[in-house]
Amino acid sequence: MFFAFTITPELLAATLLTGGMACIFALWIFYERRDAAVYDTLARISAFHCVKCRHTYSAPSQPHVAPCPNCGFTNGYLKF
Ligand SMILES: [Zn+2]
Repeated sequence: MFFAFTITPELLAATLLTGGMACIFALWIFYERRDAAVYDTLARISAFHCVKCRHTYSAPSQPHVAPCPNCGFTNGYLKF
């Protein structure tokens, strides 16, 4: 069985345009999800300022208190 199919310039252009748009859409979705994951990670970091040694530090989750890595004094998180 012979399948006769000719590629016209219009068909080639439409195929390339559709494929390009699909690639751009896929990259858009990928980077949106990656940026959302990075933002969620950054939003969960709490900042602390030690009242004893004046060291500023952060904790990866959202605790209300965390010990200072320099002196061990327990401080409350900073509210902005
Ligand atoms: Zn300290």
